[in-house]
Amino acid sequence: MDFKILDASAFYAGIPFGSSNKYYTTSLIFEEIKHIKKNHDAIGLLLETKRLEVRDPKDDSTSFVVSSAKKSGDYNDLSKEDISSIALCYELKGELITDDFAASNVAKNLGLAVIPVMTSGIKTRGVWVHYCPACKKSFSNATVCSLCGNRLRKKLKPSQV
Ligand SMILES: [Zn+2]
Repeated sequence: MDFKILDASAFYAGIPFGSSNKYYTTSLIFEEIKHIKKNHDAIGLLLETKRLEVRDPKDDSTSFVVSSAKKSGDYNDLSKEDISSIALCYELKGELITDDFAASNVAKNLGLAVIPVMTSGIKTRGVWVHYCPACKKSFSNATVCSLCGNRLRKKLKPSQV
């Protein structure tokens, strides 16, 4: 069985109604994405029909991912939510659905399959914003923060309805 693990960037992009896959996410990510109001009913329905399950990785898996991320230099670009999704993916030997650059890099280093949100069957709604994790400034089209030189992260800002 294929385990598909959704990280926050996947939820920001949309809800995977288009497929009959079973999805997993962690409670940290679930807390982060709960506020996306317009998706609220959809997420509830997925949970109710058991197509989405919230599960947390063991401490061992988490520390393994942390040490690997430190080795590859991605650790500072990862949130604890990112780490939890990679650790769960590692534990389930699943596929990680993410658009986060650092998370993809760490997952690939661990030999995990990474599926970009765009090709995952999740319909993307919204615009990508690049932001600096340190200054919290947004940039429309850049890879590096012009203020501090940090690598920018990317997230999908849902279009307002
Ligand atoms: Zn910056």
